[in-house]
Amino acid sequence: MKEPIGFIGLGNMGKPMATHLLNAGYPLTVFDTRAEAVSALVDCGAKAAISAEATASEAETVIMSLPTPEIVKDVALGPSGIILGSKVKTLVDLSTIGPRAAQNLSARLAIKGINFVDSPVSGGISGAEKGTLAVMLSCPDQQITWLRNLLGNIGNVFHVGTEPGLGQSMKLANNLLSAAALAITSEAMVMGVKAGLDPHIMLEVINAGSGKNTATQDKFPKAILTRSFDRGFTNSLMHKDVELFLEEAQSLKVPTGVASAVQKLWQTACSEIGPGADFTTIVQCVENRAGVKVKGT
Ligand code: NAD
Repeated sequence: MKEPIGFIGLGNMGKPMATHLLNAGYPLTVFDTRAEAVSALVDCGAKAAISAEATASEAETVIMSLPTPEIVKDVALGPSGIILGSKVKTLVDLSTIGPRAAQNLSARLAIKGINFVDSPVSGGISGAEKGTLAVMLSCPDQQITWLRNLLGNIGNVFHVGTEPGLGQSMKLANNLLSAAALAITSEAMVMGVKAGLDPHIMLEVINAGSGKNTATQDKFPKAILTRSFDRGFTNSLMHKDVELFLEEAQSLKVPTGVASAVQKLWQTACSEIGPGADFTTIVQCVENRAGVKVKGT
């Protein structure tokens, strides 16, 4: 019999990750503010809890996958929060919240004897569904084995450090690269199409050449040329990640000229296209100004 696990936040990422744990045989208690998200997991065999506190009274280990640092803090420390749970001993955070928030949470929870594990993930919904996420675990060496066994169910676990916050620094570096690739590829593709090139041929050439990146290999062919804009990650989440990168880099006195330009384009996407729109809609900010669309045939 596997140890019971609590899981809070059953959205685009949380739902498939929680499902993998259920399928691996972990008795799961789940909570989300959206009733339909909870019932989808209950239909697969999970038990529903009425709050984060109730979830943390059912299991010694609670995992969360929530949108923003503010929500994570509230769910962990607020009224009816995890900190008030009667059983919880370890809280594993898979959300992207930035190093400072992770360090603060860890210190606050330690006072109550709760072990905070910083472990953000990358790989998008498809990685979450396939169980192939890159899991950026930061924890003391003696906790690696059991956390690797648990988190190995959702992806490939990389032990990136021993202190809370280092998983977050790793994740912010990764997501800045993902954001920059999508932003700059949008400008390159719009320029080519306006000049008269076929976007399919452009992607073929770039992917056979030196310009290839995650946007040319994945986002443009699958979500932009098809105009489906459905990668399952929102403009507001990408905006948050680049903002957190800037905060961290600036506090470490690292130059951020390119990252600042990337951030400006995501600010425009949030205000012009919408914070809840898919992050691949960033191309529309460039298209609207250029007066052409990067469309497949
Ligand atoms: P999402 O918005 O799809 O899911 C978040 C879930 O949290 C929702 O179901 C929402 O109802 C729930 N929620 C919000 N407030 C709550 C509260 N107070 N109590 C309980 N539940 C609450 O977000 P997502 O795309 O699944 O992302 C989750 C985290 O993972 C974020 O930190 C994001 O940056 C990170 N992430 C996302 C992706 C991706 O491709 N979507 C990839 C890697 C990492």
